Amino acid sequence: MPYLTDLAAVARKTSLDVIEVPGWETRGRGEMSDVRAVVCHHTATLNRTDDMPSLPTLINGRSDLAGPLSHFGLSRSGKVYVVAAGRCNHAGTVQNPSWGNSHSIGIEAEATGTDSTWPEIQMAAYAQLCRVLADHYGLSVSAVLGHKEVADPPGRKIDPNFDMTAFRLRVSALGGAPAPAPVQTTVPTPPPVPSPASTPGSASWWSWVPSLPWFEGETEGTGGATPVARRGDRRAGQDVLPLYLSGQALNVRRHLDSLRDFRRDEFGSQPARPSEGHVQAVNALLAKLRRPLITAVERLERAADAAQTRPTEVRLSRAMSMKTQAHDLVRATERVWDFYFELFGQRQSAFGEWLDACDRITLDCYQHVFMHLGVERSIPAPPPFCYMRTGFSPATFRRGIPLRRLGRQLNPFPLVQLPYHRMVNPWTMGAILHEVSHNLQNELQLEQAVPSSIGRHVRAAGVPAPVTAIWVRWNREIFGDMVGCMLGGEAFISSLMDVIGRSPAQSLGYSPHGVHPTPYLRLFLSCELLRRMGFEERARELRRAWTQLYPSPRGSSMPPQLLATADRAIPAVVDAVCYTPFPSLGGKALRDVIFFEPRHQAMIEEAGRRLAKGIDPGVVPERFMIGAVRSALDRRLAEPDRLMRNFYVQLARR
Ligand SMILES: [Zn+2]
Repeated sequence: MPYLTDLAAVARKTSLDVIEVPGWETRGRGEMSDVRAVVCHHTATLNRTDDMPSLPTLINGRSDLAGPLSHFGLSRSGKVYVVAAGRCNHAGTVQNPSWGNSHSIGIEAEATGTDSTWPEIQMAAYAQLCRVLADHYGLSVSAVLGHKEVADPPGRKIDPNFDMTAFRLRVSALGGAPAPAPVQTTVPTPPPVPSPASTPGSASWWSWVPSLPWFEGETEGTGGATPVARRGDRRAGQDVLPLYLSGQALNVRRHLDSLRDFRRDEFGSQPARPSEGHVQAVNALLAKLRRPLITAVERLERAADAAQTRPTEVRLSRAMSMKTQAHDLVRATERVWDFYFELFGQRQSAFGEWLDACDRITLDCYQHVFMHLGVERSIPAPPPFCYMRTGFSPATFRRGIPLRRLGRQLNPFPLVQLPYHRMVNPWTMGAILHEVSHNLQNELQLEQAVPSSIGRHVRAAGVPAPVTAIWVRWNREIFGDMVGCMLGGEAFISSLMDVIGRSPAQSLGYSPHGVHPTPYLRLFLSCELLRRMGFEERARELRRAWTQLYPSPRGSSMPPQLLATADRAIPAVVDAVCYTPFPSLGGKALRDVIFFEPRHQAMIEEAGRRLAKGIDPGVVPERFMIGAVRSALDRRLAEPDRLMRNFYVQLARR
């Protein structure tokens, strides 16, 4: 059986659309030995809208794994793509040689792997395809396996993210060849086993299910599926309640066990995978969430036991209440588990390398700041972790604050959320520096010191108290801009202008409770700092452009006093944040901790020239790479796409 050139013909025995990918008959990594199993996968591709976005990857492979990656691709709408006829790189290391690439047919179904529900049309197609393959190659339904079931070590893989036991039931329900007799049974009296062929169209097809070998396998040992009352069992009628009760406890216990710790290697071996520190921090959080849950499950188990022994109304009602409680807790834990599963899983996608590059920039900022404090302090770990979302604005979640999406648990490490459109335009990623600065304000214990310094300085400049209060209210966002500007230089301000330069109504708009300064004022603040950093001319140019864009601030909704005193307040704010010594910095001012001088700008521009040519920019601090790609773009040194690619390549190379 060298190449499985009949795969397309077999797939056409279903009612599905079958598309032959050109060249499939000769595609493969050598010959198959034989067919002993069908292994089901999901693609875990982020794109959740297209029908089969992973097809090119299935054909050609990934940077870390040569294609073809499966024999079949199964689209969201249930179309079957025939990709290859030879051996495919789909199973990896397996627990039983019969499940390996030489002996198994791989099906990759398009799915993110994080959505808990699958389109019914796709599941129905999945079952049909497995049915005809099992029939054609003379396999029992027990040979239809999930990658998560065959991978070695167990737990290495999680795909597909549906219940394989239920799935095999569905494949069995489609009829086909009779299921083989059980190899071994742990039940003393053999139950009557009507063959599926003898009950065509019967609604009770499930009655013979317990005889399938895979089912027996799962009921052995400690864990197991919910016990099923067998037809013909003498006491079946009386057994319903105890079986039901023990089944409820078992289901929740298994659900709890499935929310296990993460392992770093299950997110790949590529450099972009999450660090051990991040994985352990999440596991520690999960362990904490599991504690009350374990207690609840144990309570349910005891209540179910008690109700089985003597099913009084009180005991039964207690068991059911315990079930609800345990179930609610397990679901809450699952939401947290799922959040990190998605976050870590992104590192295995095509964007893993980009996110890794962003992590390196944030770490560089941390290192630079902590190395130059006036006191000895180690860099807080784990460092910030970047992830991608669609949407307009970047955001950050600081370490140690209770997060709603974590069920009010404390966030174990800073998260930096980056919009997709920023990542495709890396020259707009000055935003990373702003978001990192929000985290630094807390890590440097400046949450109180900065607003009170702003209050003192602005008041001392003769600004009325109500207006001073506005500047104090804006302290966090001002800190983000000031520190971002010191970390990245003028490129930070250009990047800021991209964001805050909007319609006059928006850019001049004032919100009485907003945390961001009126965009119009934000630019003048950054320019004032840039001027004092030694870039007087550049600051003047930027200010001039800004005044041309917004020539008449009088039409703004800002309180008149705020606008009238802004010229006095702005230098005072810059003084208060950047040039005032703080005890937590070891008596230094931020401007003495963060270095950025004209020579650094020259270094950035040189790195930009090298980036445009695709040559190694040398040892330039990672945070300067944003300015480098920006200066190369502004000077039109290369096509934007080439610049973007080189930006990520050079950061990943470090
Ligand atoms: Zn911000």
